[in-house]
Amino acid sequence: MAVEDHTKVRPWRAIDRRSSRKIRVGSVEVGGDAPISVQSMTNTPTSDARATIDQIRGLEEAGADIVRVSCPDEESTAAFRTIAREAKVPLVADIHFHYKRGIEAAEAGAACLRINPGNIGSMARVKEVVSAARNNGCSIRIGVNAGSLERELLEKYGEPCPDAMVESALNHARILDDLDFREYKISVKASDLFLTVAAYQMLAEATDAPLHLGVTEAGGLRSGTIKSAIGMGSLLWAGIGDTIRVSLSAEPVEEIRAGFDMLKALGLRTRGVNIIACPSCARQGFDVIRTVEALEARLAHISEPISLSIIGCVVNGPGEAAYTDLGFTGGGKGAGMLYFAGQQTEKVSNETMIERIVAAVEDKAAKMRAEREALAAAE
Ligand code: SF4
Repeated sequence: MAVEDHTKVRPWRAIDRRSSRKIRVGSVEVGGDAPISVQSMTNTPTSDARATIDQIRGLEEAGADIVRVSCPDEESTAAFRTIAREAKVPLVADIHFHYKRGIEAAEAGAACLRINPGNIGSMARVKEVVSAARNNGCSIRIGVNAGSLERELLEKYGEPCPDAMVESALNHARILDDLDFREYKISVKASDLFLTVAAYQMLAEATDAPLHLGVTEAGGLRSGTIKSAIGMGSLLWAGIGDTIRVSLSAEPVEEIRAGFDMLKALGLRTRGVNIIACPSCARQGFDVIRTVEALEARLAHISEPISLSIIGCVVNGPGEAAYTDLGFTGGGKGAGMLYFAGQQTEKVSNETMIERIVAAVEDKAAKMRAEREALAAAE
Protein backbone atom coordinates (compact mmCIF):
# COMPACT_ATOMS: atom_id res chain seq x y z
CA MET A 1 0.00 0.00 0.00
CA ALA A 2 1.32 3.44 -0.79
CA VAL A 3 2.47 5.49 2.20
CA GLU A 4 0.18 8.36 1.21
CA ASP A 5 -2.91 6.16 1.50
CA HIS A 6 -2.54 5.92 5.26
CA THR A 7 -4.12 9.26 6.21
CA LYS A 8 -7.54 7.73 6.82
CA VAL A 9 -6.29 5.27 9.40
CA ARG A 10 -3.38 7.43 10.56
CA PRO A 11 -4.88 10.83 11.28
CA TRP A 12 -1.54 12.34 12.32
CA ARG A 13 -0.64 12.31 8.63
CA ALA A 14 -3.64 14.41 7.66
CA ILE A 15 -3.21 18.04 6.62
CA ASP A 16 -6.32 20.21 6.72
CA ARG A 17 -5.98 22.57 3.82
CA ARG A 18 -7.21 26.11 4.24
CA SER A 19 -10.36 26.55 2.19
CA SER A 20 -9.67 28.92 -0.64
CA ARG A 21 -11.75 29.74 -3.65
CA LYS A 22 -10.84 27.96 -6.84
CA ILE A 23 -9.53 29.76 -9.90
CA ARG A 24 -8.17 28.50 -13.20
CA VAL A 25 -4.78 28.92 -14.76
CA GLY A 26 -5.70 27.60 -18.18
CA SER A 27 -6.39 23.90 -17.81
CA VAL A 28 -5.05 23.80 -14.24
CA GLU A 29 -7.29 24.49 -11.27
CA VAL A 30 -5.67 26.38 -8.40
CA GLY A 31 -7.25 26.56 -4.95
CA GLY A 32 -10.22 24.79 -3.40
CA ASP A 33 -9.73 21.03 -3.49
CA ALA A 34 -7.41 21.13 -6.54
CA PRO A 35 -4.05 19.39 -6.07
CA ILE A 36 -1.28 21.80 -5.12
CA SER A 37 0.35 22.67 -8.43
CA VAL A 38 4.09 22.96 -8.97
CA GLN A 39 5.56 25.67 -11.13
CA SER A 40 8.85 27.03 -12.35
CA MET A 41 10.04 29.79 -14.62
CA THR A 42 12.04 29.79 -17.82
CA ASN A 43 15.35 31.66 -17.91
CA THR A 44 15.99 31.66 -21.66
CA PRO A 45 15.39 34.96 -23.52
CA THR A 46 11.65 34.83 -24.23
CA SER A 47 12.28 36.43 -27.62
CA ASP A 48 14.11 33.18 -28.48
CA ALA A 49 10.95 31.10 -28.87
CA ARG A 50 12.80 27.89 -29.81
CA ALA A 51 15.06 27.91 -26.74
CA THR A 52 12.14 28.78 -24.47
CA ILE A 53 9.94 26.01 -25.90
CA ASP A 54 12.79 23.52 -25.43
CA GLN A 55 13.15 24.56 -21.80
CA ILE A 56 9.39 24.29 -21.26
CA ARG A 57 9.52 20.73 -22.69
CA GLY A 58 12.10 19.80 -20.07
CA LEU A 59 9.91 21.27 -17.35
CA GLU A 60 6.86 19.43 -18.67
CA GLU A 61 8.78 16.15 -18.61
CA ALA A 62 9.82 16.84 -15.01
CA GLY A 63 6.11 17.22 -14.16
CA ALA A 64 5.60 21.01 -14.12
CA ASP A 65 1.91 21.92 -13.91
CA ILE A 66 2.41 25.58 -14.82
CA VAL A 67 5.36 27.52 -16.27
CA ARG A 68 6.01 31.25 -15.94
CA VAL A 69 7.68 33.18 -18.73
CA SER A 70 8.97 36.76 -18.44
CA CYS A 71 7.75 39.33 -20.91
CA PRO A 72 10.12 42.28 -20.52
CA ASP A 73 9.65 43.72 -24.04
CA GLU A 74 7.57 43.62 -27.20
CA GLU A 75 9.80 40.98 -28.85
CA SER A 76 9.01 38.72 -25.90
CA THR A 77 5.24 39.08 -26.13
CA ALA A 78 5.51 38.55 -29.91
CA ALA A 79 7.37 35.27 -29.31
CA PHE A 80 4.95 34.38 -26.50
CA ARG A 81 2.25 33.52 -29.05
CA THR A 82 4.42 30.80 -30.62
CA ILE A 83 5.55 29.58 -27.21
CA ALA A 84 1.99 29.37 -25.84
CA ARG A 85 0.85 27.45 -28.92
CA GLU A 86 3.57 24.84 -28.44
CA ALA A 87 3.45 24.53 -24.65
CA LYS A 88 1.37 21.69 -23.22
CA VAL A 89 1.15 23.33 -19.79
CA PRO A 90 -0.52 26.69 -19.16
CA LEU A 91 1.81 29.68 -19.14
CA VAL A 92 1.92 32.65 -16.79
CA ALA A 93 3.26 35.83 -18.37
CA ASP A 94 5.43 37.78 -15.93
CA ILE A 95 4.85 41.48 -16.41
CA HIS A 96 6.64 44.34 -14.73
CA PHE A 97 6.55 48.05 -15.43
CA HIS A 98 4.58 48.11 -18.69
CA TYR A 99 0.86 47.41 -18.80
CA LYS A 100 0.89 47.04 -22.60
CA ARG A 101 2.98 43.87 -22.27
CA GLY A 102 0.19 42.48 -20.09
CA ILE A 103 -2.43 43.15 -22.76
CA GLU A 104 -0.21 41.69 -25.48
CA ALA A 105 0.53 38.58 -23.40
CA ALA A 106 -3.17 38.01 -22.61
CA GLU A 107 -3.95 38.23 -26.32
CA ALA A 108 -0.99 35.97 -27.17
CA GLY A 109 -2.29 33.03 -25.13
CA ALA A 110 -1.15 33.57 -21.54
CA ALA A 111 -3.28 31.62 -19.07
CA CYS A 112 -2.40 34.01 -16.25
CA LEU A 113 -0.69 37.39 -15.87
CA ARG A 114 1.65 38.06 -13.00
CA ILE A 115 1.02 41.76 -12.58
CA ASN A 116 0.27 44.04 -9.65
CA PRO A 117 -2.72 46.22 -10.52
CA GLY A 118 -1.57 48.98 -8.15
CA ASN A 119 1.62 49.37 -10.17
CA ILE A 120 -0.02 49.70 -13.59
CA GLY A 121 -0.71 53.43 -13.34
CA SER A 122 -4.02 55.14 -14.13
CA MET A 123 -7.34 53.41 -13.56
CA ALA A 124 -7.94 53.49 -17.33
CA ARG A 125 -4.84 51.34 -17.84
CA VAL A 126 -5.84 48.96 -15.05
CA LYS A 127 -9.23 48.52 -16.69
CA GLU A 128 -7.59 47.82 -20.05
CA VAL A 129 -5.42 45.07 -18.58
CA VAL A 130 -8.28 43.53 -16.61
CA SER A 131 -10.51 43.57 -19.72
CA ALA A 132 -7.77 41.88 -21.73
CA ALA A 133 -7.45 39.23 -19.01
CA ARG A 134 -11.21 38.73 -18.79
CA ASN A 135 -11.70 38.57 -22.57
CA ASN A 136 -8.91 36.03 -22.98
CA GLY A 137 -9.75 33.76 -20.04
CA CYS A 138 -6.65 34.83 -18.15
CA SER A 139 -6.35 34.83 -14.39
CA ILE A 140 -4.00 37.19 -12.52
CA ARG A 141 -1.35 36.64 -9.90
CA ILE A 142 -0.75 39.50 -7.53
CA GLY A 143 2.90 39.09 -6.60
CA VAL A 144 4.03 41.12 -3.61
CA ASN A 145 7.74 41.00 -2.91
CA ALA A 146 9.40 42.34 0.25
CA GLY A 147 12.15 43.83 -1.92
CA SER A 148 9.82 46.02 -3.95
CA LEU A 149 7.18 47.25 -1.52
CA GLU A 150 5.47 50.56 -2.23
CA ARG A 151 7.27 53.59 -0.79
CA GLU A 152 4.29 54.73 1.27
CA LEU A 153 4.06 51.35 2.97
CA LEU A 154 7.77 51.39 3.79
CA GLU A 155 7.31 54.88 5.25
CA LYS A 156 4.28 53.75 7.22
CA TYR A 157 5.87 50.58 8.64
CA GLY A 158 9.57 51.54 8.61
CA GLU A 159 10.74 48.32 6.91
CA PRO A 160 9.31 45.32 5.05
CA CYS A 161 7.16 43.46 7.59
CA PRO A 162 4.16 41.09 7.40
CA ASP A 163 1.64 43.92 7.91
CA ALA A 164 3.17 45.95 5.07
CA MET A 165 3.21 42.97 2.71
CA VAL A 166 -0.35 41.94 3.47
CA GLU A 167 -1.58 45.51 3.19
CA SER A 168 0.10 45.79 -0.20
CA ALA A 169 -1.46 42.52 -1.36
CA LEU A 170 -4.94 43.50 -0.18
CA ASN A 171 -4.63 46.92 -1.83
CA HIS A 172 -3.91 45.24 -5.16
CA ALA A 173 -6.70 42.72 -4.59
CA ARG A 174 -9.20 45.45 -3.82
CA ILE A 175 -8.61 47.00 -7.23
CA LEU A 176 -9.52 43.70 -8.89
CA ASP A 177 -12.49 43.11 -6.57
CA ASP A 178 -13.82 46.59 -7.41
CA LEU A 179 -13.69 45.63 -11.09
CA ASP A 180 -15.53 42.42 -10.22
CA PHE A 181 -12.51 40.38 -11.29
CA ARG A 182 -12.15 37.47 -8.88
CA GLU A 183 -9.87 35.14 -10.82
CA TYR A 184 -6.72 36.00 -8.95
CA LYS A 185 -4.22 34.39 -6.63
CA ILE A 186 -1.71 36.10 -4.39
CA SER A 187 1.88 35.66 -3.29
CA VAL A 188 3.77 37.56 -0.57
CA LYS A 189 7.36 36.49 -0.97
CA ALA A 190 10.48 37.48 0.92
CA SER A 191 13.96 36.04 1.04
CA ASP A 192 13.73 36.05 4.85
CA LEU A 193 12.00 32.89 6.07
CA PHE A 194 10.39 34.41 9.15
CA LEU A 195 8.96 37.30 7.16
CA THR A 196 7.69 34.99 4.41
CA VAL A 197 5.94 32.60 6.78
CA ALA A 198 4.42 35.35 8.95
CA ALA A 199 3.17 37.25 5.88
CA TYR A 200 1.51 34.16 4.40
CA GLN A 201 -0.06 33.23 7.74
CA MET A 202 -1.54 36.71 8.03
CA LEU A 203 -2.68 36.76 4.40
CA ALA A 204 -4.31 33.34 4.74
CA GLU A 205 -6.57 34.79 7.45
CA ALA A 206 -7.37 37.93 5.47
CA THR A 207 -8.54 36.51 2.13
CA ASP A 208 -10.02 33.43 0.54
CA ALA A 209 -7.96 33.93 -2.63
CA PRO A 210 -5.74 30.97 -3.51
CA LEU A 211 -2.13 31.48 -2.46
CA HIS A 212 1.00 30.99 -4.53
CA LEU A 213 3.80 30.04 -2.13
CA GLY A 214 7.45 30.82 -2.48
CA VAL A 215 10.52 31.93 -0.59
CA THR A 216 12.07 34.34 -3.04
CA GLU A 217 15.78 34.31 -3.94
CA ALA A 218 16.24 31.29 -1.70
CA GLY A 219 19.75 30.50 -2.99
CA GLY A 220 21.54 27.63 -4.68
CA LEU A 221 20.32 24.07 -5.13
CA ARG A 222 21.05 22.71 -1.67
CA SER A 223 20.75 25.75 0.59
CA GLY A 224 17.78 27.13 -1.38
CA THR A 225 15.95 23.82 -1.25
CA ILE A 226 16.48 23.54 2.50
CA LYS A 227 15.39 27.12 3.10
CA SER A 228 12.30 26.66 0.92
CA ALA A 229 11.47 23.33 2.53
CA ILE A 230 11.52 24.92 5.98
CA GLY A 231 9.45 27.97 5.00
CA MET A 232 7.07 26.50 2.47
CA GLY A 233 7.01 23.17 4.27
CA SER A 234 5.77 24.71 7.50
CA LEU A 235 3.08 26.64 5.62
CA LEU A 236 1.99 23.61 3.61
CA TRP A 237 1.92 21.53 6.77
CA ALA A 238 -0.41 24.14 8.27
CA GLY A 239 -2.65 23.75 5.21
CA ILE A 240 -1.63 27.03 3.57
CA GLY A 241 -0.73 27.14 -0.13
CA ASP A 242 -2.42 26.20 -3.40
CA THR A 243 0.44 26.41 -5.88
CA ILE A 244 4.18 26.53 -5.24
CA ARG A 245 7.39 27.66 -6.82
CA VAL A 246 10.75 26.82 -5.30
CA SER A 247 13.05 29.69 -6.36
CA LEU A 248 16.53 28.30 -6.84
CA SER A 249 19.69 29.59 -8.44
CA ALA A 250 19.79 26.29 -10.31
CA GLU A 251 18.39 24.80 -13.51
CA PRO A 252 14.60 25.33 -13.61
CA VAL A 253 13.90 21.54 -13.65
CA GLU A 254 15.51 21.39 -10.20
CA GLU A 255 12.77 23.70 -8.93
CA ILE A 256 10.14 21.24 -10.15
CA ARG A 257 11.96 18.28 -8.59
CA ALA A 258 12.35 20.12 -5.28
CA GLY A 259 8.68 21.19 -5.35
CA PHE A 260 7.43 17.66 -5.89
CA ASP A 261 9.80 16.26 -3.26
CA MET A 262 8.41 18.76 -0.78
CA LEU A 263 4.81 17.84 -1.57
CA LYS A 264 5.63 14.12 -1.58
CA ALA A 265 7.25 14.39 1.85
CA LEU A 266 4.00 15.88 3.16
CA GLY A 267 1.80 13.40 1.29
CA LEU A 268 0.18 16.29 -0.62
CA ARG A 269 1.14 15.01 -4.10
CA THR A 270 2.26 11.57 -5.07
CA ARG A 271 3.77 12.03 -8.50
CA GLY A 272 6.68 9.78 -9.38
CA VAL A 273 8.75 7.33 -7.42
CA ASN A 274 9.12 8.11 -3.74
CA ILE A 275 12.38 6.49 -2.66
CA ILE A 276 12.77 5.66 1.00
CA ALA A 277 16.43 4.89 1.63
CA CYS A 278 18.63 4.38 4.66
CA PRO A 279 21.76 6.53 5.12
CA SER A 280 23.90 3.33 5.05
CA CYS A 281 26.49 2.16 7.55
CA ALA A 282 28.95 -0.69 8.00
CA ARG A 283 26.07 -3.19 7.96
CA GLN A 284 25.05 -2.36 4.39
CA GLY A 285 24.88 -5.35 2.08
CA PHE A 286 25.39 -3.18 -1.02
CA ASP A 287 26.44 0.38 -1.83
CA VAL A 288 23.25 2.18 -0.78
CA ILE A 289 24.34 5.70 -1.71
CA ARG A 290 25.47 4.86 -5.26
CA THR A 291 22.43 2.65 -5.79
CA VAL A 292 19.98 5.38 -4.75
CA GLU A 293 21.77 7.90 -6.99
CA ALA A 294 21.50 5.50 -9.93
CA LEU A 295 17.85 4.67 -9.23
CA GLU A 296 16.85 8.34 -8.90
CA ALA A 297 18.34 9.01 -12.33
CA ARG A 298 16.95 5.85 -13.95
CA LEU A 299 13.43 6.33 -12.53
CA ALA A 300 13.08 10.10 -13.05
CA HIS A 301 10.78 9.49 -16.06
CA ILE A 302 8.15 7.61 -14.03
CA SER A 303 5.14 9.78 -13.20
CA GLU A 304 2.98 7.11 -11.50
CA PRO A 305 3.01 7.32 -7.70
CA ILE A 306 5.12 4.38 -6.54
CA SER A 307 6.90 3.98 -3.22
CA LEU A 308 10.24 2.16 -3.21
CA SER A 309 12.39 1.32 -0.20
CA ILE A 310 16.12 0.77 -0.68
CA ILE A 311 17.57 -0.36 2.64
CA GLY A 312 21.09 -1.58 3.31
CA CYS A 313 20.32 -4.48 5.64
CA VAL A 314 17.69 -6.45 7.52
CA VAL A 315 17.73 -4.11 10.54
CA ASN A 316 15.18 -1.85 8.82
CA GLY A 317 14.68 -3.36 5.37
CA PRO A 318 11.73 -5.73 5.93
CA GLY A 319 9.94 -3.16 8.11
CA GLU A 320 10.19 -0.45 5.44
CA ALA A 321 9.30 -2.91 2.67
CA ALA A 322 6.06 -3.70 4.51
CA TYR A 323 4.79 -0.19 3.74
CA THR A 324 6.14 0.40 0.25
CA ASP A 325 5.01 -0.85 -3.15
CA LEU A 326 8.45 -2.27 -3.85
CA GLY A 327 11.40 -2.80 -1.60
CA PHE A 328 14.96 -4.07 -1.69
CA THR A 329 16.88 -5.12 1.41
CA GLY A 330 20.59 -5.95 1.40
CA GLY A 331 21.32 -9.34 2.82
CA GLY A 332 25.07 -9.92 2.58
CA LYS A 333 26.90 -12.48 0.47
CA GLY A 334 26.49 -10.26 -2.61
CA ALA A 335 22.70 -10.48 -2.86
CA GLY A 336 19.54 -9.01 -1.35
CA MET A 337 15.80 -9.58 -1.21
CA LEU A 338 13.21 -7.96 -3.44
CA TYR A 339 9.75 -7.29 -1.96
CA PHE A 340 6.47 -6.60 -3.71
CA ALA A 341 3.73 -5.09 -1.53
CA GLY A 342 5.60 -6.15 1.56
CA GLN A 343 6.06 -9.79 0.48
CA GLN A 344 9.49 -11.33 -0.15
CA THR A 345 9.51 -12.39 -3.79
CA GLU A 346 12.99 -13.11 -5.06
CA LYS A 347 16.66 -13.04 -4.22
CA VAL A 348 18.59 -10.66 -6.50
CA SER A 349 22.37 -10.35 -6.82
CA ASN A 350 23.97 -6.97 -6.11
CA GLU A 351 25.27 -6.90 -9.71
CA THR A 352 21.82 -7.12 -11.24
CA MET A 353 19.74 -5.34 -8.58
CA ILE A 354 19.54 -1.93 -10.29
CA GLU A 355 18.37 -3.42 -13.59
CA ARG A 356 15.89 -5.67 -11.78
CA ILE A 357 14.46 -2.86 -9.64
CA VAL A 358 14.16 -0.50 -12.63
CA ALA A 359 12.36 -3.22 -14.60
CA ALA A 360 10.02 -3.96 -11.67
CA VAL A 361 9.14 -0.28 -11.18
CA GLU A 362 8.61 0.26 -14.91
CA ASP A 363 6.40 -2.80 -15.04
CA LYS A 364 4.30 -1.59 -12.11
CA ALA A 365 4.04 1.89 -13.64
CA ALA A 366 2.88 0.40 -16.96
CA LYS A 367 0.19 -1.63 -15.17
CA MET A 368 -1.00 1.44 -13.23
CA ARG A 369 -1.12 3.45 -16.46
CA ALA A 370 -3.11 0.73 -18.23
CA GLU A 371 -5.57 0.51 -15.32
CA ARG A 372 -6.01 4.27 -15.32
CA GLU A 373 -6.58 4.36 -19.08
CA ALA A 374 -9.06 1.48 -18.88
CA LEU A 375 -10.94 3.33 -16.13
CA ALA A 376 -10.97 6.54 -18.15
CA ALA A 377 -12.20 4.67 -21.25
CA ALA A 378 -14.99 3.02 -19.22
CA GLU A 379 -16.09 6.39 -17.88
S1 SF4 B 1 19.31 -0.13 7.57
FE1 SF4 B 1 21.12 -1.34 8.00
S2 SF4 B 1 22.64 -0.58 6.53
FE2 SF4 B 1 21.02 0.94 6.59
S3 SF4 B 1 21.76 2.40 8.10
FE3 SF4 B 1 20.40 0.97 9.17
S4 SF4 B 1 21.76 -0.60 9.99
FE4 SF4 B 1 22.93 0.54 8.44
